[in-house]
Amino acid sequence: MDLYEYQAKHLFGKHAVPVTAGEVCTTADAAHEAARKIGSQVVIKAQVKTGGRGKAGGVKLADKPDEAQEIARAILGMDIKGHTVYKVLVNEASDIADEYYVSFLLDRANRTFLAMASVAGGMEIEEVAATRPEELAMIRVDALEGCTPEKAVEIVEAARFPEPVKAQVVDILQKLWRVLIEEDATLVEVNPLALTPTGQVLALDGKVTLDDNAHYRHASHADFVDRDNTDPIELRAKEFDLNYVKLHGEVGIVGNGAGLVMSTLDVVAYAGEEVGGIKPANFLDIGGGASAEVMANGLDIVLNDPEVEAVFVNVFGGITSCDAVANGIVQAIAMLAAKGEPVTKPIVCRIDGNNAEEGRRILNEAEHDLIELVDTMDGAARRVAELAAARKAGKQG
Ligand code: GDP
Ligand code: MN
Repeated sequence: MDLYEYQAKHLFGKHAVPVTAGEVCTTADAAHEAARKIGSQVVIKAQVKTGGRGKAGGVKLADKPDEAQEIARAILGMDIKGHTVYKVLVNEASDIADEYYVSFLLDRANRTFLAMASVAGGMEIEEVAATRPEELAMIRVDALEGCTPEKAVEIVEAARFPEPVKAQVVDILQKLWRVLIEEDATLVEVNPLALTPTGQVLALDGKVTLDDNAHYRHASHADFVDRDNTDPIELRAKEFDLNYVKLHGEVGIVGNGAGLVMSTLDVVAYAGEEVGGIKPANFLDIGGGASAEVMANGLDIVLNDPEVEAVFVNVFGGITSCDAVANGIVQAIAMLAAKGEPVTKPIVCRIDGNNAEEGRRILNEAEHDLIELVDTMDGAARRVAELAAARKAGKQG
């Protein structure tokens, strides 16, 4: 999970990385009040999970609360690279003498952590890496040793930080490392790490990516989940512990195994082209040992998507045999009916693999009006795309 700047700075503060006072606001009036409380020049910053906010006009200085309010009004609702601004950070402004860059990240390819540092901060680091690679120091950090004082000195030397700021940056690097390790992050980035005219080094921006696999270890991280900006169906899927991603299309997809679901999206998109641009509506992997309950939750989520016209259940029986999956589908439909949400959309099933014959027999015997069995994946994709297209056309005409 990527964090907003204000959330990243909250973690920085917790680990004593130097940041200045700020308050996150959702209205222009709140920005006025926040600026009044801060009492000096403030910087109003769009909170969106993308970089380059400065260039896009999402970072502006304000001298007075009235000005802060006006700027906040302009920034709230702005679109920055496809992200709508719902919140602004009203932060005490700093004077800037110089801008640096530091980060720690998980370098998966090399099975290590990597520290990156540069005295050419402020601009996008990809640009520094492309145009002036000699100005970007990259130093491996051993996961077990961590960022020791010696390692921090090595990073600072490699990036050629000026003598007067070295000690501060060495200290900040060790604190940022603690953010990475203690918060279970895979990325901690500060750009710019700014030097003020009075010689103080401060984190003026922050980017943190938390490792979702470690979410359970951090009760406090639940507050970081972005309820306003997450699709409501995705939020419900998360509550069911399902691997669901909302897309925009008409064919709901339920499958077992990420690879199978990915290729199901492809075949449905391909078949959908032929019938006037029908597309898959979601990614949903119900996993290997999917029980009737998991199947019911999965169908529940997919069928509740108002965009969905027809559902494709594509299962390859492995650990879970097909008869169990077929029973799961039948029970799922009964469970939904019992909940007062009877299924009204056609469900095309392709069931193959371990004990497929028995699975198909169970579905055939259920004689459900809305269930259709198709033998091949391509055939099922074509059929579900046709059904979705027909239902969509029926609604429009
Ligand atoms: P980004 O463009 O999304 O990376 O947003 P940043 O938070 O990095 O802000 C962009 C730029 O705005 C920075 O590189 C600074 O030059 C400038 N900026 C940010 N905060 C301040 C501040 O407190 N004072 C001044 N003078 N400039 C700031
Ligand atoms: Mn930045």
